Amino acid sequence: MRSDTGHIFRLENYRPSDYLIRKTELNFTLEPSETVVEAKLAIERRSTADMHAPLILDGDELTLKKLKINGQPATDFEVTPDLLTIRNLPQDDNFTLEIVTAINPTTNRQLMGLYRSSNIYTTQCEAEGFRRITYFLDRPDILSVYTVRLEACKQAAPVLLSNGNLVSSGDLENGRHFALWHDPHPKPSYLFALVAGSLGVISDQFTTCSGKQVALNIYVEHGNENRAAYAMDALKRAMHWDEDVYGREYDLDVFNIVAVSDFNMGAMENKGLNIFNDKYVLADPQTATDSDYAGIEAVIAHEYFHNWTGNRITCRDWFQLCLKEGLTVYRDHEFSSDMRSRAVQRIDEVKTLKAQQFPEDAGPLAHPVRPREYREINNFYTATVYEKGSELIRMLRIILGDDLFYKGLDLYFTRHDGLAATIEDFIKVFEDVSGRSLAQFSRWYDQAGTPLVTAYSDYNAATKTLRLTLEQKTEPTPGQSHKQPMHIPIKFALIGADGKDMALTGQNNADLQEDVLHLHEASQSWTLHNITEKPVLSLLRGFSAPVLLNQPSDDEEQFFLARHDSDAFGRWQAITRLLSRTIIENAGLMHRQQPLSIPPVLAQLLAELVQDETLDHAFQALCLSLPDEADIAREIGSNIDPDLIHASRKALSAAIADANAALFARIYDALQDDQPFTPDAAGAGKRALKSALLGYLAFSDAAPDRVYNQFATANNMTDKLAALTILVHHFAAHEKAVAALAQFEHDYRSVPLVMDKWFAVQARRPAADTLETVQQLMQHPLFSLDNPNRCRALLGNFSSGNPAGFNRADGKSYAFFSALIVQIDKHNPQLAARLLTSLRSWKTLEPIRRAHIKSALDMISRTENLSTDVRDITERMLA
Ligand code: ZN
Repeated sequence: MRSDTGHIFRLENYRPSDYLIRKTELNFTLEPSETVVEAKLAIERRSTADMHAPLILDGDELTLKKLKINGQPATDFEVTPDLLTIRNLPQDDNFTLEIVTAINPTTNRQLMGLYRSSNIYTTQCEAEGFRRITYFLDRPDILSVYTVRLEACKQAAPVLLSNGNLVSSGDLENGRHFALWHDPHPKPSYLFALVAGSLGVISDQFTTCSGKQVALNIYVEHGNENRAAYAMDALKRAMHWDEDVYGREYDLDVFNIVAVSDFNMGAMENKGLNIFNDKYVLADPQTATDSDYAGIEAVIAHEYFHNWTGNRITCRDWFQLCLKEGLTVYRDHEFSSDMRSRAVQRIDEVKTLKAQQFPEDAGPLAHPVRPREYREINNFYTATVYEKGSELIRMLRIILGDDLFYKGLDLYFTRHDGLAATIEDFIKVFEDVSGRSLAQFSRWYDQAGTPLVTAYSDYNAATKTLRLTLEQKTEPTPGQSHKQPMHIPIKFALIGADGKDMALTGQNNADLQEDVLHLHEASQSWTLHNITEKPVLSLLRGFSAPVLLNQPSDDEEQFFLARHDSDAFGRWQAITRLLSRTIIENAGLMHRQQPLSIPPVLAQLLAELVQDETLDHAFQALCLSLPDEADIAREIGSNIDPDLIHASRKALSAAIADANAALFARIYDALQDDQPFTPDAAGAGKRALKSALLGYLAFSDAAPDRVYNQFATANNMTDKLAALTILVHHFAAHEKAVAALAQFEHDYRSVPLVMDKWFAVQARRPAADTLETVQQLMQHPLFSLDNPNRCRALLGNFSSGNPAGFNRADGKSYAFFSALIVQIDKHNPQLAARLLTSLRSWKTLEPIRRAHIKSALDMISRTENLSTDVRDITERMLA
């Protein structure tokens, strides 16, 4: 592994390279332990470059075998595994470089560069993996046309894939064969890919809007072919949608997807050859849950959408990562909204943003959506770049309106097609189509931290006016002590006593546009006229900006919004606020050993919602599920005691269950059906509601049998896993729970993605002895530190999905966890660093736990030869 140099990359130091690589021809002779890579590069010296400028190529653990310039062996060069510096290059501005390297795909456990997963050769080059294949200008502003020849043993690797279109293929001597691929679209090296191995395939076709035929293939491990149909269907829907909504057509003869089982992230958008974590491809009703199906639909679409937002227009440098990721996440969110229930999709997005991004923004790892410096780029594939990046696009659309938004994007696609662009380029297209300055809006890209917006309202019955005041404040984040006010679009409505939105016409205020308040200043007021009755204020509808909303209001108003807000998000927001207020209050009462106070009206509200037939099941399920323990911890903000939160939340569940026992049982029973499983939103909503109700029924006397019954009779994984989770989390030692776990293991031993769920359920059990369970499970024959999905299933779920269980007051989990991080870092730094971010909110814990985490982090920090990835995260967390 490359050792940490301590070097920090800065945006202000960006400089175009002296040389370009116009063409890249690669020849791979694939062998498990020594693959030979011959690269022939057409190099061009830029007209602005010095004649004598050396050519400095990136490498990473490479062995150089040969180096030629214009066909002659090179003499004036220096080489290390990480760098190739060539001097005294030809005077001519164009010359060819031939580089031969040897690499070992079998011992590559980092899963970056060329590696083997279940005997399949595969690659991962984003962000800086290409340099582990050959010496190159491995930076995204070097766009090159690739021609790739693959050669391998035909029996071991009958399938040979790379980017672009297949030019030719055929048999060779000694049982070997070859394939030649050409990608006509210039691309950066991070989009290069190859796959070789013995794979099953399902194939289909797509006719584009201009009538071109595209062959679609999804390659999977043999035996999984019948689990790829949903991914194929999602792909075709995504291709249609991008034509319909953005006018974007596919641009090659073939679109290939390959699913592999060892993968560091979700998937990768390599041009014409997307490579996926098989978790985001494989599904059937018996092995995938509704949320797996939704994840597949979203990730298939995400990677496909990158073809335009990422590949045709790529990033000039890695500081601009959000240019492709934020925009593409926004596009996949909109796609999912169009495929499913928009309101439910939006609530899910906000839940994810708050769970993943808000803590990042509030802690030591906070960074701007476009960072200005990094030590390890792998550590910046974050919720801030992806999810907050997407929220910025959503705000831009609200600010400009649909028309200008799409006009701006059309201009972006024509102006920057085939180029490597920056955030400035992106903002400029919207300024150009609108004639407006987006200077203040652009601060969103530069300023880290979540703004806190505080709202005050004052109604004057005599003048029939409502005075609204909004204030914004963003706390300091690492490296940014002073924050400037940003342009925050706050969607809103005034609701009358009849529960209807008031019409707000003729208000005559530049910063009030239809249903949006445009907050520009640190503090800003609006006076609304002709308001005939005291309204209830519905603020931040649809979560129109990624902010924390502080709206001093009484419970009565929140109950009103919970019942009447015509905006589903607003309704859910009010319900959530009421529930978390109660949990927080009771945590305080428990702490002071005072009797609990749970207002019966809450249980009543949930009873009403669950009986309201105008609501869809998925929305009802969202309302019934209490805020997570981590959500509550975030609201409390400091001096957190996870045990108190767990106990208080459980007490509220029990009270709601108790008050509504008969009703919930009746509705649960009525939701039973024997319809065959379909993965659509309606079916998923019904199952979500059923299992939310079952969670409450777990508090009744007959519980274990009833829950076990759902487990045993389920005809799909969603119902089965929900029941298993309730059994294990509520009745761990009960014979039914023990039996269900054993049965599940027996039934799914040979299905890795399902076994991940089995590990995860146990890792999430909220109990003091879960650490011991996790330690035992690491001895399970199916556990492996080499497989990222398995590691995340057990260790990721324990450290970030189980606040009460993981945060034992004796600190033992932290010691165990940090030792494992050091161990994983030795072979897969990217995975280790990502797991370590589970501790990012450590400073909000109460002092005893905080001290234990501090020593665990200190232990990591004292370890020698840490990767740059883990060193970077550790030092930022300790700073
Ligand atoms: Zn992406």
